[in-house]
This record gives sequence, structure tokens and C-alpha cells, in this order.
Amino acid sequence: MCVVLVAGIARADEASDLAAITQAAAGCDPARAHCFGIRLHVATGEAGVTANPAWVATQLAAANHQFLPLDVGFQLVGIDARSSPHVHSRKERDALGKLVGGTVIDVFITDQLDDVDPEGVTVYGVTWRKGDRKFIIVSTKAWERTLAHELGHFFGLPHSTYAVSIMNKTPRDEPPMEQRRFADEEIAQLKLGLRRLLRGKVLVDVTARATSPAQASPRRCSSPRARPRRSSPRARRAG
Ligand SMILES: [Zn+2]
Repeated sequence: MCVVLVAGIARADEASDLAAITQAAAGCDPARAHCFGIRLHVATGEAGVTANPAWVATQLAAANHQFLPLDVGFQLVGIDARSSPHVHSRKERDALGKLVGGTVIDVFITDQLDDVDPEGVTVYGVTWRKGDRKFIIVSTKAWERTLAHELGHFFGLPHSTYAVSIMNKTPRDEPPMEQRRFADEEIAQLKLGLRRLLRGKVLVDVTARATSPAQASPRRCSSPRARPRRSSPRARRAG
């Protein structure tokens, strides 16, 4: 997997924390019709980077699992330590928006994400808009499926009341957590959202796949001129 490490301002221990997160995170399955990049921004505390590599890997794996019916996968394409350990307010969420850009999904990991309405409550994740850009903030206290839930919002889903759905926030016993997924109706909505994101070039497929050692070289992966992957029949149908 090719991940751009922004190490210019990173301390040595910070760089090794970032590398550990990158190493633990699985890539996007090349069999997917679409693989989209996630640029991760983690926070640092007194003991270094606060996000745990296994926790990040679990969030990504859950997102990849939940988006299987859409034939979409995600993989890290960049990582830095420019998130904040505590995001208090709308203003602080907006400030993170200055760091987002490109045709990937920016995900900020924080340790405490305060609700902004009402105040005094914390939340586990939010999909936030600044100008014409959406980005995601996830707390390290989040559930395993929080990133997948927020990606659902990124692709245009609202909250829902489907019992099976990971977009339903109502506490309930059934179905069990491990069976929860996007409802079939939501998959149909996600397909429309995917088309919109591709048409608007908000997201562009990660073009260089590590299918051979030569393709996996950092030079190849970071090249903006990398040749686009030839579409599969499934990709054409979905796009
Ligand atoms: Zn939500």
C-alpha cells in the first residue's frame, strides 16, 4: 500500500507512530469496482499519537465491509498528525476544513468530539461541511462502525429508522450488532450518491494499485500522472 507520510514537521517518534498506523491498515481489495483514498489526520498528546493502529485498522475494515454491496473500498493514501485532540466547537470543526482538499476523503481522528447542538455532550463522529467540502471527524471513543456510518453520510445518506441499518441511531437489541448493515433501500441511495461524487469529481478512484512490486513503488503511487485503471464492466455499471 502506498501512503504519503507528511514527515517534514514530524518528530521521530511521531513519524514511527504514523508508520505503525499505516502498516496496520489493510488496503482496498483490488477486486472492488471503486477504491477511494482516505487521508487520515490524527492527533497527538503528551505520549505521542493518540490513535491506536489496531483501532484505525478496525474502523477501516468495518467501512470496507459495509461498502461491499456498493462494490466500493477505501484505503489510506496519506497520514499526518494535524488533527486536534479535542474538537470543542463549530469554529474548531471549520478550522479543520482548511486542511482538506483533493479527490480523497479527509478523516480527522480526535479524542473528544463535543456536540455543538446541544452543548455539553460528546459525540463519536460527524460529517462536517465547510464551503463545498465535506469531511469526517471520528472520536477515538467511537464504535467500530462509526467511520462506516459517517461515510454513509459522506455518500449522501441521512439517519434512518431501518432496524438493520447502521444509519439508525436508536438504541435497540435486534438485529444484533454484527448483522447491522446499510438497508437495501440505502444501498440504492448510496449508488446515486456514488454517481454524484464521481460525476462531480469529488472522489476519484485510487489509480495505482499495488498489483505488482513495480506498481507498489512510492514513486509510482505518488505520481499524479499515474495511468487510470481500466474500468471493469461492473465499474461502468456502477459509475
Ligand atoms: Zn450520523
